[in-house]
Amino acid sequence: AGPVTSVAAISRAAKEGVLVKGGGFLETMAGADALFFDKTGTLTKGEPGVVEVLPQGDRRPEELLAMAAALETGSAHPLAHAILAKATSLGCTVPAAREIQSEVGRGVSGKVGDARVEVISSGARGETGLTTVEVRVDGELWGYLGMDDEARPEAQEVIRAVAAKGLGDVRILSGDREPAVRRLADQVGISRWHAGCKPHEKLGLIESHEGSGLIFVGDGVNDAPALKAAGTGIAMGLRGSDVALETADIVLMNDKLETLPFLVDLSRRMSRTIK
Ligand code: ADP
Ligand code: MG
Repeated sequence: AGPVTSVAAISRAAKEGVLVKGGGFLETMAGADALFFDKTGTLTKGEPGVVEVLPQGDRRPEELLAMAAALETGSAHPLAHAILAKATSLGCTVPAAREIQSEVGRGVSGKVGDARVEVISSGARGETGLTTVEVRVDGELWGYLGMDDEARPEAQEVIRAVAAKGLGDVRILSGDREPAVRRLADQVGISRWHAGCKPHEKLGLIESHEGSGLIFVGDGVNDAPALKAAGTGIAMGLRGSDVALETADIVLMNDKLETLPFLVDLSRRMSRTIK
């Protein structure tokens, strides 16, 4: 192996704002024929906004949001930011929550006063194509919050470019529900996607993949097992979770998806030099 060449490649990547944690990772990347993406925060901007507040029964919208926001103070998920921001903008008084637990890829639960509150992924309102969560208080449905997270503007072009470079098997692996995943897949031009994936299911899809090599791009806590298992794990740098950044082989510190085709080329140039 040529250490100078890999150093040159690493420094070239660094100039683009990409952290490559070792030359070996680029060499592995050069042989990949598949590219799997996480959805939220990876193909989307990761800046969702609450666009639908749908209380049930006699609940008021402010009540619903305040309860959801109470739980989300304990979460670093992009959806948590969206819910807190909406509650703030409506001037809700957010009660204190305790015993907050996040369940990766599903939502958060905890206590407000004596009540047990859950804010969790919902299959209801699928027709909207929004990412939807339901709020339950002692099991009673208080309502739904619908969130929209825009596709990254560069995503479609990047997907076209990597496919043209021979990465034929391009897919989305998402923890979100089917309608929201399908909508985003259509927007960015990906025809194969898997919705409702728990972290171990993302891992399973990667481990069972047959081919010359697989690149996985993700950002969340729920992506860490997949980032580790993939031949090449790439994390989004700006809003990526600590565990994703630590586990990945390569970090897009510049947070630009459009660096992916450049990295594919760079890895192949380097691997040619080494051989
Ligand atoms: P992705 O794999 O697309 O990045 P995640 O696995 O992070 O998505 O999340 C999957 C789903 O779990 C979300 O669409 C949401 O419904 C639910 N979820 C995860 N974290 C939270 C949270 N903090 N609050 C509410 N819902 C959440
Ligand atoms: Mg994500």
